[in-house]
Amino acid sequence: MSQADKRTLIIFCDFDGTITTKDNIIAIMKQFAPDGWEEIKDDILAERISIREGVGRLFSLIPVEKKQEIIEFVLKQAEIREGFEPFLTYLKENDITFKVVSGGIDFFVQPVLEPYDVLEDLYCNGSDFNQDTITITWPHQCDQFCTNDCGCCKPSILRQYPDEEYYKIVIGDSITDLQAAKQADEVFACDNFLLEKCQELGLNHSSFSTFYEVIESLKQKKEVTSR
Ligand SMILES: [Mg+2]
Ligand SMILES: [Zn+2]
Repeated sequence: MSQADKRTLIIFCDFDGTITTKDNIIAIMKQFAPDGWEEIKDDILAERISIREGVGRLFSLIPVEKKQEIIEFVLKQAEIREGFEPFLTYLKENDITFKVVSGGIDFFVQPVLEPYDVLEDLYCNGSDFNQDTITITWPHQCDQFCTNDCGCCKPSILRQYPDEEYYKIVIGDSITDLQAAKQADEVFACDNFLLEKCQELGLNHSSFSTFYEVIESLKQKKEVTSR
């Protein structure tokens, strides 16, 4: 961010594997899905089916009666990455806009984020428990510029914030963050997958393992811009 850059800083942060240290969908499937779910996961990773189709099929394997049990399971096993709460405090104190962009599902993402006062800034998928098995709904599908059938389309969300007005930072770990990272002004990657992609593509990026490191980078940026 150069001195002349007067754009508003906005942060788009992934949930699974970024705010939490592990992927909750995979943990849920291991615990609750019948045999056969791994094939669907492999099809997603190999891009034989879209993320939207795959995630929809995965949850359709699980009876709606399991809802409460899944929530309790996720709350119990989800580990929040170190420094997340101080990071949010820093953002608030400095008036920096923060959005969570998650390919996770509302019924387990919201309970995990509940203590952190960020639910108003959460983009994620929805859920419907009126059938026999869990139905996923998609309030943030791809816009006309994305053909990936993402489910929760991170690049489409970034496009809602004009490039001329916003300096966009993407924080993430994996494949679902890649398209958003390509559009960002700056990327923070906490996993080798996204890190290597950023290197390959020559994106403006840094690696981190705790949110304290992200705070430090933002502080330095602020010093530069206010000088
Ligand atoms: Mg992730
Ligand atoms: Zn998309």
